[in-house]
Parts: sequence; structure tokens; C-alpha cells
Amino acid sequence: MQTTIVGYPRLGAQRELKKYTERYFRGEITQAELLGSAEKLKEAQWLRQREKGLDISPVNDFSFYDNMLDTAWLLNITPERYQRLDLPALDVYFAMARGYQRDGQDVRALKMRKWFNTNYHYLVPEIETGVKPEIQPDKLFQECAAAEKLGLSYRPALIGPYTFLRLSLNKSGKSLAVLAAELAAAYGAVFSSLAAYRCEYIQLDEPALALDLTAEDAALFERIYLPLLADKHGKKILLQTYFGDIRDIYAKVRLLDFDAIGLDLVEGGRNLELLEQYGFPGAQKLYAGLISGKNIWLNDYQKSLAVIGRLAKTVAREQLVLTTSCSLLHVPYSVRYEHKLAEKYKEQLAFAEEKLEELRILKTLAKNPDAEILRRNQEIILARQNDPDFLNAGVREQARQAAAEIVRRPGFAGRQIKQQGVLNLPLLPATTIGSFPQTPEVRGWRRDYKQGRLSAAEYKDRIKDKIKTLIALQEELDLDVLVHGEYERNDMVEYFGEHLQGFIFTENGWVQSYGTRGVKPPLIFGDVARPESFTVEWIKYAQSLTAKPVKGMLTGPVTILNWSFPREDIPLSQIAYQIALAIQAEVLDLEKNGIKIIQIDEAALREKLPLRRADWQDYLDWAIKAFRLTHYLVKPETQIHTHMCYSEFEDIIEALKALDADVLTVEAARSDLTLLASLVDYGGYVGPGIYDIHSPRVPSVDELVSILEKMCSKLDAAKLWVNPDCGLKTRTENEAIASLRNMTAAAARMREKVYHLAKSK
Ligand code: GLN
Ligand code: ZN
Repeated sequence: MQTTIVGYPRLGAQRELKKYTERYFRGEITQAELLGSAEKLKEAQWLRQREKGLDISPVNDFSFYDNMLDTAWLLNITPERYQRLDLPALDVYFAMARGYQRDGQDVRALKMRKWFNTNYHYLVPEIETGVKPEIQPDKLFQECAAAEKLGLSYRPALIGPYTFLRLSLNKSGKSLAVLAAELAAAYGAVFSSLAAYRCEYIQLDEPALALDLTAEDAALFERIYLPLLADKHGKKILLQTYFGDIRDIYAKVRLLDFDAIGLDLVEGGRNLELLEQYGFPGAQKLYAGLISGKNIWLNDYQKSLAVIGRLAKTVAREQLVLTTSCSLLHVPYSVRYEHKLAEKYKEQLAFAEEKLEELRILKTLAKNPDAEILRRNQEIILARQNDPDFLNAGVREQARQAAAEIVRRPGFAGRQIKQQGVLNLPLLPATTIGSFPQTPEVRGWRRDYKQGRLSAAEYKDRIKDKIKTLIALQEELDLDVLVHGEYERNDMVEYFGEHLQGFIFTENGWVQSYGTRGVKPPLIFGDVARPESFTVEWIKYAQSLTAKPVKGMLTGPVTILNWSFPREDIPLSQIAYQIALAIQAEVLDLEKNGIKIIQIDEAALREKLPLRRADWQDYLDWAIKAFRLTHYLVKPETQIHTHMCYSEFEDIIEALKALDADVLTVEAARSDLTLLASLVDYGGYVGPGIYDIHSPRVPSVDELVSILEKMCSKLDAAKLWVNPDCGLKTRTENEAIASLRNMTAAAARMREKVYHLAKSK
């Protein structure tokens, strides 16, 4: 039995690659320096993998930005707008990733989308007319050469052609069949170039096989692979799947001439059954994904051994390779870098490096089970489940009861009249999504406060001063519903986790979100509860400064859950209900303190929507219930808002309605009219963002008026709110102020127009 992994993180344990790359973007280091430091980083990681006992390392799992982009690059699928740029190759690559705006050259970046059900984002390749895939010299081959120089036992990995095609944008006008043939030829050329290297296997990642597949999809897969597998240029091919089972194609795949198949046995619900039902070809290897690549808890060896035992009935031991369920890209580097966490927490955790160790131990245990190791492993796992610091029987019980019906009364129409009576808002009320720019000054205060250089009282005073200035500013800007600016929050999830029981935090638990950006998800360690209110003081203070309504700002339960590493001993729905109860307490406290509008953000509601349609309803049911649990007890007069950071609604609009929020604000500036069409029958008020906050650009009043006109032509003006796409946290103060000034001016002009129109009717 051998061990391997599907892939490894690449930003560097101290986020070195992020730092080098960003320095390169700023022009502080040369291309040679960037490439040199990346080489060192990669080498160190490979050596560490070998030292930890890994038998085979994947290479080319590394990327300067993203593996989908790398694959497009390798196959020379570069849209014309980038080819025209007069730049060195690496800069053209980065232009595809980030856009390019300098010296009169101006191109948009490729679109970015979520990678299956993870918080990682990939770049969407565009296949244009006239572009015929062909391979160009690339890091794939350089990495193979580097691995050979180190004497490493390695396997090049790349995104497989089926997944590549499925996730790309076809702008070529060619049929899928034609593209399939072209891609097969291009991958064939890659195989042929790899023939010169010593690796035995080539790994092709095909996570798209875990999606729902139609008969045509399966046929397309075969169409690409049949010619490819007919000439492997002396290499063996590993078909690596992950993020779920491959129920729609296993029966077929098993008959194709793959030399190995990688199956996710953590998230891959039916994979084991499929193996048992259809069997596994005796001549192939099975890469058994037993160690979770998505979560950070210690592996339960007893469970893993049980799966190995079950596998043994269909697969001979010599055919088994132990691996991870997916790439370790989605977990942090190592628990070694956690200096503040107590031992009792650290021993519960396995990040990428610890997972290498787990593979080694599992391999040994599979040969001869060591009772002592198993006992100790169980002891640690049980300790977490019964940790008295994290056990809250009351909350558990309440969350279990939460399954009952949760309905806010009266319905939307009845509430609307009462709310307007209290709020007295103009037509097209103008507001923001919550955060205002987190200036270096504000971040400096927080840093000083956390490091003890600023007292709690002093810190609070400074934040309150900032809030005071912001309230005055918003009045001057003529916004109708104000916010406190979220200055006290480092991050919308972390801040909540820090004030709730049940969470623990890492110092260095960074996970790549996209490109050079990392996030540090909190860990949901035990039962969640709210010891005391933590937003009321700020919001109440802000409200005391103005006669206009100030929105209470909260993060919703599904978003908190989806942007954390969840515990695994109770269902996700129960964790969501526990968080919801904590948020509910905060909602009711805000209301009690005179706050009339409360916004509960569900930025990430869609993020963990299951890959298969059949599983959607179950997820949406509990997600909706959790959200409703937070607000169903408020008075009819209290207006509930929610905000979402994406614009794909058509397929979940019913679920959004069911959230029963009075006002829904969404990202819209970069999307087309189809979004507006799907909002037509939302029921409540809607605020599709009228400008893009991800860009430093300040939109003109005219431009904003024409957007509002477009919106009013599709949606009832009486139900529209006017707001930006998302929070303003990442903008500078000047950009935010200039844009908002134009936004409220545009709202005023649009109001005039609507009155005029009404009069003339
Ligand atoms: N209220 C949050 C903010 O304005 C919402 C952020 C988000 O949707 N990601 O920052
Ligand atoms: Zn948002």
C-alpha cells in the first residue's frame, strides 16, 4: 500500500508566495526573483512531504494564481484581448487573472467563480473563435524536471479536459463535440511531452464528475477520453475525482482504460456502494480518499480502517493507494505554527502537514493495527465531544426543538404598512450595505488594542468618534437609512465568532480564497451560545446621534457556518440552529433598544449549496429555517433586511422568498437584466446594487440614473431601494464618499422622474 495526496496548499506556511507575488505586482521585485522564490518554496514543500513519509508527491498542483488558469495557459487558450498586450508572458498570465490597466492598455480580468462547494475561486477560461488548443512550454514541465533533480517520486497533476471544458466559457461558436476533439488532441500532446519524464502516472482532476450528469454529459466525457486513452504515450493515467460520488458515470468509467481511479470516500456518499455494486477492475489502482481535504479535525482511524476493511472485499490490498479526499488546498499548513492555542485544542487538529502524518500512520495501522495508537486517537476525539467548556445542554435542546414551524406574522403586506408608518421613508430610499472604509488608522487602533498598547476604553472612544463622524457624513450625503460603519469588526464572521461561545481561532490558519488572497476561518469547536450582546452598544450609540433610522448589522447563521470549519459530530443543520438562536437573542436586544431596522447578512447562503440538485431542498430547508429563526419573533413594525453577495438567483428565488425578509439587497452592478427579471416576483422590497464596490472607479450621476431607469422599467419603483453592491470596507474614504454622493443625487433625480411619470398618467 502506498500513500499520496491530491494536492497541497501553495501560498506558503507564512504566506510567502502571497508576499512575493504582491511585491512583484507592486514592482518591488523582478520576475526572476519571484520565480526563484517560488522554486524554493516548492522544493521545500516536496522535501517536507517526503520527510513526512509520503510515497508519491503531486507536482504542478502549485500555481501562481489558479490551476484552471494554468490549464488554459498550458493549452494556449488565451483570449485575444490578452494576446494583444505588449507584455512579458508572465504578465500576460497575471493580466488574465487580474486585468491590466496601464500605459493606455486596459483589459478586464477573466471572470472568477466559486470552485464547486468550496470557498476557493477559480478563473473562468474563455474559449474564443480561432483559438485552437496547443501546448506551450510551461511550469508543468519545469516542475517535473525540478522534481527529478531532487530524486523525488512524483506525479504531474492537471485539471482534466472534461472539467476544463465544463467550467470554461465557450465563445467560439464551435460545438462541444468539436471542442472535445480539439481538447483531446491538446491533452494528447501534453502526454507526449511528458513521455520524456520519469513519472509513472499523470493525474487528471475531474471533480465535475461529482455533479449531476446527463447521458449527453457522460457521452461527452467518453468522447474526450476514448482517443486520449487510446494513446497514453507510455504513461499511466489516474482519473482523480473529488467533492462527491460519481454515481452517474462510475459504471462506464470503470470499463475505460484508466490505470487508476481516485474516489472521495469522505464526501463521496455513494462511492463505496458503487464499488461494491459494480466491482473494481483487478488491473487498476484505487486511490482511496480517506483523509479529509476540506476539514481540519483529526482523522478517526477506527472509521478509516473500517472503510479500508470494507474496500478489501472488492479491491486487493496491492491495488490500494491511500490519499486525501481532495486537494489539501482547502486547509491551512500546519498546527506547528499555532503558538497560542492550548494543547487540548491542538491535538484535535490536523492541517495539511499533520494529514501527511495521518496517511503514514493509517498505512501502518492497515498492516498491523496498534491498539495503543487507536485508543489514544479515540480518547482525543471523545474529549472534544465531551469538553465541559463547550457543552451547552440547553442550547442543544433548543436547537433540536427548532425543527418546528417558524413563521413571522403578519405576512409581508401586513408588515409593510406598519413599517412605513414608523419609518416614513421616501420613495427609492437610499442606504449602504453596512461597512465603511477600514482605514489604516482604524486597523492601527485595533492592532494597538489587541497588543495591549491601547486600553479598551480608549479604543472604544476612538471607534465611537469615528461613528459620530460617519453619522454626520451620512446625513450630509442625504442617505435615508444610516449605518454605524462596522469599524469595530475585523471581519464579519470572525467578529461574531469572537463574541460567541463555541468558536476557537488560529493565528496562522490561512486558506487560499483566490489568487493571493487568504481567509482565516474560525473553528466551530462546540455548542454555540451568546453570553451577552455585542453589537447593541455600537448601534445604540449611532442611533442616539440621529433622527434617521440606523440599521442594526448582523451576520446570518448560514454565513457564519459556511465561512467556518464546522464540527462534525452533529449535523450542520443543528450547528446552524444553534448559531441562529444566538443571533436571535442579538436581534431581540437590538429591537428592545429602539432599533427599527435590522439587517442580517447572508453573504454566503449559496456557498454550500450541494452539488447535486436532489440534495438542494434539504440544504435550503434548514438554511431558511435557521435564517427565519433569527427574526421571526420581532414586532411587525421592525423591518428586517438581508444582503447577499452574488447575483445568481433564478434557481433559488423560491428559497429567497422563504427567508421572509422585508428587504433584500443583492450584488447586481456586474450582472445583466436577467437578475432583475428573477427579482420581479420576490414579494418584498429589493435593492439590487447600482454600482460595483470592488472597483475604485467612481460612477457618474448620469450613469447611475440610467441604471435606476433600467431597474424601474423592470421592477416596481415603489418597491426599490437604492444602494451599492456590497459593503464599502475595501474602498478608500474618498472613493466611498464620491460614489455615495453621486448615488444619492441619482436617487433624487430618479424620484422626480417617477413622480412626473405618475402625474402624467
Ligand atoms: N454588512 C457587510 C458589509 O457591509 C456585508 C459584507 C458582505 O456582504 N460580504 O461589509
Ligand atoms: Zn455583499
